[in-house]
Amino acid sequence: KVRVRFAPSPTGPLHIGGVRTALYNYLFARKHGGDMILRIEDTDSNRFVPGAEDYINESLAWLGIRIDEGVREGGAYGPYKQSERRDIYREHVRMLLDSGRAYIAFDTPAELDAKRSEVANFQYDASTRMAMRNSLSLSADEVKSLIDSGTQYVVRFKVEPGRDVVVDDLLRGKVTINSSILDDKVIYKSADDLPTYHLANIVDDHLMEVTHVIRGEEWLPSAPLHVLLYEAFGWSDTAPKFVHLPLLLKPDGKGKLSKRDGDRLGFPVFPLEWHPEGGEISSGYRESGYLPEAVVNFLALLGWNPGDDTEIMSMDQLIDKFDFSHCSKAGAKFDYEKGRWFNHEYLQMLSDESLARLFKPVLCQHGVNADDYSDEFLAHVVGLVKGRIYFVKDLWEQTKFFFVAPDEYSAKDVKKRWNEDTPRIMGELIEVLLALPDFGSKAAEPVVLDWIASKGYHLGNVMNAFRLTVVGECKGPHMFDITELLGKDETVARIKKGVE
Ligand code: GLU
Repeated sequence: KVRVRFAPSPTGPLHIGGVRTALYNYLFARKHGGDMILRIEDTDSNRFVPGAEDYINESLAWLGIRIDEGVREGGAYGPYKQSERRDIYREHVRMLLDSGRAYIAFDTPAELDAKRSEVANFQYDASTRMAMRNSLSLSADEVKSLIDSGTQYVVRFKVEPGRDVVVDDLLRGKVTINSSILDDKVIYKSADDLPTYHLANIVDDHLMEVTHVIRGEEWLPSAPLHVLLYEAFGWSDTAPKFVHLPLLLKPDGKGKLSKRDGDRLGFPVFPLEWHPEGGEISSGYRESGYLPEAVVNFLALLGWNPGDDTEIMSMDQLIDKFDFSHCSKAGAKFDYEKGRWFNHEYLQMLSDESLARLFKPVLCQHGVNADDYSDEFLAHVVGLVKGRIYFVKDLWEQTKFFFVAPDEYSAKDVKKRWNEDTPRIMGELIEVLLALPDFGSKAAEPVVLDWIASKGYHLGNVMNAFRLTVVGECKGPHMFDITELLGKDETVARIKKGVE
């Protein structure tokens, strides 16, 4: 059975790249009837950020990425938070020490720094470890007395040099690395009695029976070490398959998309708004007016395609089509405009009634009491303009004249469309409109157009002057659709006011 995990560290808000990793894990799990685990990797206490875990849960829930096993969901392989698994890690560190695959090192940070400034490109490995203070270079008695006296230490994984380590990646094929370039990574720190990422990650993936490790490309350099760890534990046969996903690049393709790019370039890089304690707020997709379905669809196509040109796909369709053979190895440019386009498309799929419901809070923000208007009226209004919007909030700019009469008129349009004859013609227009038995768009339009033609007036000038008085500027949906919804009294009142 396929078992995948998304394993974020709660060090801040979930970056959009992390969200994509979670999404691909989810699509793959669902496609194969497998399980999706959410594991919180909080072994680095220095980087822990309060609120980050809740943020991760809320983000995934908003996007419709459902977790089968996790801190909140429970499950048979828990606990799902690494800081609650200390005993398990301690026991596994002990196994590696006992088998001679790891050793204890006492070098202080100051000593390591001194070494680094003394030796160019210093690396703690087979060529240097005997010159350092560790259980390989010191006598057993020395080691014991250091530990007994409470000296802090770390445990390092002993990497044997000169071996080809093969990482089998579903996307990249076999990646071979020589072990000589690897250092003896720290896998445990006595100071906080916690393992480092590498050890905890391998132990958990093994114990949680993870079958596929799907994560960002930035973890590819760690993968050889992970392969060696599986081997050292004797778990190679059941080691998970790896998939290292392509990076998300800045919109211009120059470099990795960073957490800071969003607000700098004017788009969100976080699913939800993030309010760090005492820090600056970062914008989120949800608060910027994105529909979660649009974000999911947009993200799914950053690094994957269904094998044809299909762009609009629901979560179920994505699950159906998802596979790694159509994943790209090259970084995916973060095309934010495409994200807006997806939102536009998803808004078009909503019924006018649903869209009107979403519009109500926006009306309130602009001081309009939405309850003064019938649902039918609001649905008509949004139906007229929805083809022009990218976000629900755009509806206000497009429709505000339905709710408030213009109190000023676009100077540019007045200059172009208003001349000394206009007030008299608008007066005549009022008479024509008042005489209409049916003020509906279909009935009103031919009557007004016939009147303009019979008088020999300039069609564009008259219609634009008319629009100017009703809307305040020369744009908007079809004029007679507007007047139908406003009604005769309001339309006539606006023309009168415009003429004054
Ligand atoms: N905790 C790691 C992260 O924050 C997980 C990497 C992995 O999936 O192995 O990205």
